[in-house]
Amino acid sequence: MAQPSAACKRALADATALCPNRSRVADGIMGDTSHQNRKSDHNDGNAFDLTHDPDNGVDCHFFAKLVLLDFRVSYVIWNRKIYNAEMPDKGWRPYDGKNGHTHHMHVSVKAALRDIGSPWPWASLES
Ligand SMILES: [Zn+2]
Repeated sequence: MAQPSAACKRALADATALCPNRSRVADGIMGDTSHQNRKSDHNDGNAFDLTHDPDNGVDCHFFAKLVLLDFRVSYVIWNRKIYNAEMPDKGWRPYDGKNGHTHHMHVSVKAALRDIGSPWPWASLES
């Protein structure tokens, strides 16, 4: 059974440190049963979902751009768009998956970098 990666745990912990009152309703690292039936980085503990809660400091319109500064990111899905860090020239492209990711952003980390638990870009923001 895979374990949540240090990188993903740190990402959510840093967001909570910055915004202690943020909603975590759509947060997650490990895949639920529906994820386990398909290919997902969540099944390996290599992806995190961050709840969009602008009233309490986590505005994913901003965080989805900020997260691209992090060297561990593989790809991001937010608000019906996807950004693949290996193809920065393509920028944000339309994402037409069934779940539009309008209430949380999905971030996959590179498997080789999953154990790096250093701070995420939002750790240096001031609350
Ligand atoms: Zn996800």
